[in-house]
Amino acid sequence: MSLSRLTDYPFYRERLETGGQPVPWTLADLESYAASHPSDPFAGRVIGEAMPRVSLQMEATDGPPIWTALNPPELDRWAEVVAGMWSRWGAVAGETVAFFDYGSSPLVLLASGGYVGYLRRGAAERLGLFAVCNDGVATMAPRMAEIVQTVKPTMLVLRRELVAPFASALKTAGVALAGKVRWAAMSEVEGAVTREQAEAAGTSLGVRVFRILRCDAVFLLAGECPRCGCFHLDRRYRAEELSSSEVAITTTFAQTCPAVRYNLGAARVAGTGCPLEPRAQRIEC
Ligand SMILES: [Zn+2]
Repeated sequence: MSLSRLTDYPFYRERLETGGQPVPWTLADLESYAASHPSDPFAGRVIGEAMPRVSLQMEATDGPPIWTALNPPELDRWAEVVAGMWSRWGAVAGETVAFFDYGSSPLVLLASGGYVGYLRRGAAERLGLFAVCNDGVATMAPRMAEIVQTVKPTMLVLRRELVAPFASALKTAGVALAGKVRWAAMSEVEGAVTREQAEAAGTSLGVRVFRILRCDAVFLLAGECPRCGCFHLDRRYRAEELSSSEVAITTTFAQTCPAVRYNLGAARVAGTGCPLEPRAQRIEC
């Protein structure tokens, strides 16, 4: 994103350094901008002429709702990121991925063109998978156990706070995941769960649990690598280590709602060189 371009966006305009790059920013900066510009749902990151086809409300912010926006090609790129994440964990065409999350989560939306308008090929369609979503509230845990029994998904994507009710519902129903489910992945609304949380979830569910790194403000989704334990980044993300021992992310496919130098917090850029995917840039957090 060039200097002349970023100056068009009020949120970035007021943050530009002399080099033309914005000062790394956080959700708190976005919330503060939104609080002082209540009539702008995108908090200064979408200009009027963009006419975005898809707008998504961010889940992680407080105060006035803040939205991000995409056009169809960007939505497609984002779904490709999700397909890449599933592929690294192992996905076999003809099998089913099941979600226990809100239907508004990008992890769900990007799965299928049936879940969000303008998405040409969702992650499931790209990999020849079927997708099923159970609403992301704890009271739906028994139904999730039923989905496991009847639909027989081999891949599960779960919200962190639903792991415990789901494990308990499985126990009540007498259903074991081991031998049936290839992997489960655990997401947090913003950032990622800790390794300890994922390990504890794996123990309670009886299946390997991978972590997902999620930051909706910059359309970031990345999965934990089974080999090195870092998050492998799709090539459309650029990670930059800051002097504060934090990492900033720039998402190159985001044009409608630019995503430049988002500070995702304490993390380390691990560079390339994982045997599973030698060229992938990696983040450790
Ligand atoms: Zn790796």
